[in-house]
Amino acid sequence: MKKIVIGNWKLNLDHLEAIQLLQKLNYSLDVNIEDKIDILLAPSHTSLRSLQTIVDADSLKIQISSQDVSAYTEGAYTGEVSAMQLQKLNITYSIIGHSERRLVFGESDELINLKVHNAVDNNLVPIVCFGEPEENRNSNNYLPYLLNQVNLAIKGLRKDKVNEIIFAYEPIWAIGTGKVASVENTIEVLSAVKKEISNKPFYDEEKTRFIYGGSVSPTNASELLNTKIIDGVLVGGASLDTDKFVQIIKSIKL
Ligand code: PEP
Repeated sequence: MKKIVIGNWKLNLDHLEAIQLLQKLNYSLDVNIEDKIDILLAPSHTSLRSLQTIVDADSLKIQISSQDVSAYTEGAYTGEVSAMQLQKLNITYSIIGHSERRLVFGESDELINLKVHNAVDNNLVPIVCFGEPEENRNSNNYLPYLLNQVNLAIKGLRKDKVNEIIFAYEPIWAIGTGKVASVENTIEVLSAVKKEISNKPFYDEEKTRFIYGGSVSPTNASELLNTKIIDGVLVGGASLDTDKFVQIIKSIKL
């Protein structure tokens, strides 16, 4: 399975700064590394067109993802950006259900499920985030909690509607905290999710990827990324620093 490294820039960088960072990253990567590793950047909506235009014009192999997508297709939904609008920009991925969307903006499992449906209906690959809060981890009840979150996010998806879903395990207690889940924790969760997903009609062993996110840094990336069941990482803070992001990418043993 081709590994994937996704940089989630969150609410940082204006479109000019985003262009600079894309170009710096492109110059810093080994030639043709993107043939061996999928490298994605998820900037703010305002930078999507600028970055995708550069990617298309210069035939870059870095790919662009949105950080979110609307649950609605069109109409009276002020402030929303639809899957169709993203698809028209040649954007091919969208992060959905990030814990910051769930916690800060009160997104429910039902809303996330609608977003996932809208994404796949418009040929966007959903990067479906799920993760447990610290209390839940401490109570040792995390596996049923996580499986329920995953099942609700993908409810009703049909085989012929799904591209290559990416499931991102992002324990909330590890996001932006410097605390990283152990490789054993991550293997336990991803194995359980993989087992659950393998019964679904859309599951494609060759395509569906299971990744980890939460305080990934050059220090811990190698162990995570060189573990077989972990197909990649979602990187927040460290993706804003090109040197660190490149070190994370380079830690993959090819
Ligand atoms: C994230 O926001 O998806 C994330 C993993 O953040 P960080 O790497 O900063 O913990």
